[in-house]
Amino acid sequence: MKIAIVGAGITGLTAAYYLSKKGHKVYIFEKDKFAGGLASGFRAGDWYLERFYHHIFKDDKHIQQLTDDLGLNNIWLWKDCGAPIFYQGKMHPFSSPVDLLKFSPLSFINRIRTGLTSLYLLLNKDYRFFEGKKAAFWLKKYMGQESWKVIWRPLMIKKFGNFYSFISMTWMWARVNRRSRFLGYPKGGFQIIINKLVSEIKRNKGKIILNEEVKTLKELGSFDKTIFTGANPAFLKLASDLPEKYKNKLEKIEYFGTVLVLLTLKKPLSNWAYWMNINDNNIPFVGCVQHTNLVSKKYYKNLHPLYLVSYTSRKSKLFKQKDEEIFKKWVSYLKRINKDFNSSWIKNYQIIKEPFTQPIFKVDSYKDIPSFKTPIKNFYLANTSQIYPWDRAVNYAVGLGKRIAFSL
Ligand SMILES: Cc1cc2nc3c(=O)[nH]c(=O)nc-3n(C[C@H](O)[C@H](O)[C@H](O)COP(=O)(O)OP(=O)(O)OC[C@H]3O[C@@H](n4cnc5c(N)ncnc54)[C@H](O)[C@@H]3O)c2cc1C
Repeated sequence: MKIAIVGAGITGLTAAYYLSKKGHKVYIFEKDKFAGGLASGFRAGDWYLERFYHHIFKDDKHIQQLTDDLGLNNIWLWKDCGAPIFYQGKMHPFSSPVDLLKFSPLSFINRIRTGLTSLYLLLNKDYRFFEGKKAAFWLKKYMGQESWKVIWRPLMIKKFGNFYSFISMTWMWARVNRRSRFLGYPKGGFQIIINKLVSEIKRNKGKIILNEEVKTLKELGSFDKTIFTGANPAFLKLASDLPEKYKNKLEKIEYFGTVLVLLTLKKPLSNWAYWMNINDNNIPFVGCVQHTNLVSKKYYKNLHPLYLVSYTSRKSKLFKQKDEEIFKKWVSYLKRINKDFNSSWIKNYQIIKEPFTQPIFKVDSYKDIPSFKTPIKNFYLANTSQIYPWDRAVNYAVGLGKRIAFSL
């Protein structure tokens, strides 16, 4: 078959890799000038660095299977990282039961309660038990008001904005149940996997056409089948004559975007923490990721990439704000995290904005998860709106790409 794939992100590349391996003739159309989508990176020294921070968890089997299939043996570096919480001016380690027992912002009884509830989420293997339950309600009820106010509410507001109170408890379950303390990073960067996918697709006689935005479905009329891997709003733009009922279903899944400041520092902001949850409503970013606490600085010319990230609606003021304003404002908060920080530590910076990075799974979203088949004959959809109950991640993008490749 002659198959068109729209999007050279991880989903599109994985689908193209397995389809081309099966002997199909694949053509990937990508609007950007590079392959890899949200997981793409650029050279930052001997290794690539992702535009958006990236790591995997121990249980992320699809991506590890893919790297095995690609012959990228022994590619994963693993590090015990954890995710400390910055609260009331202090960074609190938060990765083990002992850390929780020492977590002074909570009363002792609420530390125990939070620990027991987390254990329950960890041991309960069936997400369907949490379907139809709101995370905000459930967490308040079982972990207690204090834990909700100190730990979860600030994080959920920063992750989902005004949608926070509608988020499904399945999201929270997935977060606790499948995430490991040990984080994995591919030697050389995620771009090594992307480059290998690209070269294998080409070896299998597939074509990757960059800088080519598909604007209407009609352009793809000559293909036997087409797979669209961009976000639902991009699909709706392209396929305007879809039946109303189907359009409404896709529109029900809303998306948040990402605004990220990537700083190259001469010194690390933190000497030990990789991922820092910023539970302080006055600080405009929710995550602060000191990449060189996951991967050695020696691969980045002895410099220290630091990501500051905020998730927000593409309609928010932040999306319209000028890069320099965002940079100045966000950097002004770094002294709160490390009092020794000084702007002379910054070698350079870039601001990266993407409008559709996170499908928002609300309490009743499970009823609206689209299938691969669309109402248009031979036209398929494979994107992160279908990975429910999991949070968007390369592992699930690989899983999707593989599944669609084997279901055509
Ligand atoms: C801030 C941030 C941090 C993240 N951190 C992690 C992490 O630590 N670990 C992890 O596993 N995952 C992480 N992810 C998620 C991960 O990057 C994504 O889940 C994954 O890359 C999605 O791949 P995809 O191919 O489905 O989508 P995308 O990467 O979005 O690819 C879709 C592609 O389609 C193209 N496209 C869309 N419309 C058209 C069109 N009309 N014509 C042509 N091309 C089109 C786009 O340009 C894009 O390249 C993170 C994401 C973000 C935003």
